[in-house]
Amino acid sequence: MITDNIPCKICSGRAGRLITTKDMKTYRHCANCGFISLDLRHIVSRDRERERILLHDNTISDKGYVDMLRGFLNTYVAPLRGGIKTALDFGCGPDPVLSKLLYGMGITTDVYDRLFFPEKVYSGRKYDLITALEVMEHLEHPMDVFGLLSGLLNSTGILAATTLTYPADIGEFENWWYRRDITHISFYSGSTLEYMSAGHGMRIRFSDGKRVHIFEKK
Ligand SMILES: [Zn+2]
Repeated sequence: MITDNIPCKICSGRAGRLITTKDMKTYRHCANCGFISLDLRHIVSRDRERERILLHDNTISDKGYVDMLRGFLNTYVAPLRGGIKTALDFGCGPDPVLSKLLYGMGITTDVYDRLFFPEKVYSGRKYDLITALEVMEHLEHPMDVFGLLSGLLNSTGILAATTLTYPADIGEFENWWYRRDITHISFYSGSTLEYMSAGHGMRIRFSDGKRVHIFEKK
């Protein structure tokens, strides 16, 4: 095993190991918080990332996609609706479908996406809800973004995020489809998410232990 002493981007821990996969990519796996990050030299350009994302058919006309978003909102947001008047869909993608559904629930929603809607409309604002669906796996500097989002929440605000946590059996990481998406560069365990939230005055309000992670302010 090759050890790695570059500090972890989440917890600054220096104890880690390198994982080299069959497709010759190198990942750092932090022994302290569990964070796994793709080595910088494999990170694709923004143009390539944009092209790859545009291959997804995530539009309002894709019934399966819209049903999935409705299910997410009905399960995780609707029960809180009384307290949610404003939202930011962070990383909304090329067609901000979620914001349209939130509008339909009477929630005023801003959108931001570093590739498709790069205007920082959130500057100087605070939100009751921030959604970040399938965003965290794309982040080169997740702690910075987490800090930004924490700062944009009202004191009772909720951050509703989805990202797949990596398999409990790390031996499965190599063949995991989520890893093999060229735009996915950061991977989390439940422990990593706890470190991230604690580092920014947040805590995990709910996690399904797999994909859905809801954070609130402490
Ligand atoms: Zn770490």
